[in-house]
Amino acid sequence: MSPQKLETNSDLQSFVDRYDTFLFDCDGVIWRGSTIVDGVPEALDMLRSLGKRLIFVTNNSNTSRKDYVKKFAKLGITAAVEEIFSSAYATAVYLSDVAKFGTTNKSAYVIGGNGIRTELEDVGIKTLGREHTVPIDLSSLAEVEPNPEVGAVVFGIDYDVSYRKLAHAHVNLVHNEGCLFIATNDDRTLPGGKYMYPGCGSLLSSLKSSSQKTPMVMGKPNKPMLDCVMRKYDLDAARTCMIGDRLDTDVQFGISGGLATLCVLTGVADEQSVLNPTSPQATYYTSSLGNLAQLA
Ligand code: PLP
Ligand code: CA
Repeated sequence: MSPQKLETNSDLQSFVDRYDTFLFDCDGVIWRGSTIVDGVPEALDMLRSLGKRLIFVTNNSNTSRKDYVKKFAKLGITAAVEEIFSSAYATAVYLSDVAKFGTTNKSAYVIGGNGIRTELEDVGIKTLGREHTVPIDLSSLAEVEPNPEVGAVVFGIDYDVSYRKLAHAHVNLVHNEGCLFIATNDDRTLPGGKYMYPGCGSLLSSLKSSSQKTPMVMGKPNKPMLDCVMRKYDLDAARTCMIGDRLDTDVQFGISGGLATLCVLTGVADEQSVLNPTSPQATYYTSSLGNLAQLA
């Protein structure tokens, strides 16, 4: 079925009535870069006043949930840490709840920034590799050994990625029996204001190539992060809608989990791509999430 356009107040009202929980992508839906999308704070307040549950789901692993709360506040939106779900937090939940890192005393070798280290350390997982930014040459490479303490290599966006870090991650993946390989997300590019720049997925390619191992990828459009969200909040898929601006990540993420999806046109997707029958098919689309403010 082709996506239904939500235009009139009556369309928007029946959409809101149909769901108890809304999952939101952030960039392109709530804000664009550092500018809030018009009407969004009012739309979110309206949903809260109806008792709806709001969960913000982002692939960005570089910002901790605590720092996301500050970003929301700067843009005039009150959000609690518990309402934010990032690919870094999903990785922490997976390692502690599913891989039982708390009980095995294993550490994670991390290629990634402070956001992911904070999330892992907040659930009691020790992270290694922070200091491995300094250059290394061939004569010192023999010092890079697998570490039996490492139970997982975790890969997120790292603005200080180095050959030394890649070498440590590689030897652990290849020579450390049972070492897990987890990537927060595999976005090829990320939005950087003026241009798109290399994303986590493009950096990850080098480690996939050298180790010949395939990581479990947590973030959108993959299922592990959605499984974590559904399990953590005990959500009913039939009463949950995923809202995003990208068809290949956000809408596909919702479809994979059996959720309804709303594509907004304030980010990457335009009306033509939403209506293209070869793209992932959203359930609904509307020009902006801010349109819901009309119901306030
Ligand atoms: N990864 C990084 C490092 C980012 O900065 C961003 C967006 O700002 C993303 C991923 C994509 O995030 P989202 O899933 O919120 O669109
Ligand atoms: Ca987005």
